[in-house]
Amino acid sequence: TNSTYYRPTKALIDSRAIQDNVKNLKSYLPKKTEVIAVVKADGYGHGEVEVAKAAIKAGASMVSVATPDEAVRLYEAGIRKDILVMGPSPIEFARKAAETGIIVTVSDAEWLQDAIDMYGAFKYKLRFHIKVDSGMGRIGLRNKETLKSIIDVAEKNPALIVDGIFTHFACADEDNPSATMEQFSFFMEMVQSMEVKPRLVHASNSAATFLYPELSLDAVRFGISLYGIPPSDYVASRLPFSLKRALRLETELTFVKRLERGSRVSYGGTYETKGDEWIGTLPIGYADGLKRGLRGQEVLIDGERMPIVGTICMDQCMVKLTKEYSVGEKVTLIGRQGDEEITMEEWARRTNTIPYEIAVSISKRVPRLYS
Ligand code: PLP
Repeated sequence: TNSTYYRPTKALIDSRAIQDNVKNLKSYLPKKTEVIAVVKADGYGHGEVEVAKAAIKAGASMVSVATPDEAVRLYEAGIRKDILVMGPSPIEFARKAAETGIIVTVSDAEWLQDAIDMYGAFKYKLRFHIKVDSGMGRIGLRNKETLKSIIDVAEKNPALIVDGIFTHFACADEDNPSATMEQFSFFMEMVQSMEVKPRLVHASNSAATFLYPELSLDAVRFGISLYGIPPSDYVASRLPFSLKRALRLETELTFVKRLERGSRVSYGGTYETKGDEWIGTLPIGYADGLKRGLRGQEVLIDGERMPIVGTICMDQCMVKLTKEYSVGEKVTLIGRQGDEEITMEEWARRTNTIPYEIAVSISKRVPRLYS
């Protein structure tokens, strides 16, 4: 991307980091285990198409998304590796899926039968993965009868191809393995009840991939750690290889002033300078994803941590500088400067959430620039 942006606030995405994470994952996994790159929610905020391309270049054999619209966007952008929609699709999507080769997820026989009834015989084959709810309680079938009825519909209709079966772990990022092991054995019991094993049996997310390599099966669905982010603090201290963070959030000082002691800063005047202070203004605010709750969070300037002071505005915020800096001085909100690093996990701790939510909350207004 070489478009010109006049505002210096940018998310810099390192495609090489994404490629390296996939390559390192592939050398960690058994040879036969495929990598499904999870690029839902605009590639966890990193950009769905660019991330999909980087992951495929590094050896991912499939990409997956949450919604049919996300899948269509990838298809229209020219992605021709398999695209799996992991979430539910409406029956109206069945024809588009068949035409484009997009793989849908099916949890009950009625969906398949309705799709066949609505469109008659498909000109193209409709590939799908069966979703098993082994304990997540979200979507998926929960008994062998439903599984069998899905297979029965598929067997009567040659246009329907059972390409895979999968489940999703609810607690794989925690220290206690028992919930994950129970989910896994429930899932395998379902799989073993099938007369014909589908091409791809898969269960693991990033956390399970790292902690339980023995559950990797035919493929793993690698999401958060594709972007170099550990799924949880527990997993972070047990990574089998080091991850490379793909996103930096940067801006520049747009205004610098010296305020005398007792001056107030931002809405509500809730910050009051304790002495004469250098205050810098940043062109980033809560409309960019810098939530108001991040007041007090530090940023990096000149390799040093300096705090955001006063209320965060929609488009701007203020930081307390350690000395006078010039307008145009580089500011890193997420990323590294010298020995200091600010991660999405740090933002997440401050705002009582998880790094996943931080990644996807960097808003559309922030341009993504790729290298
Ligand atoms: N599989 C499914 C069904 C998901 O919903 C997700 C995302 O939460 C993933 C895999 C990837 O999980 P993670 O980002 O923790 O690797």
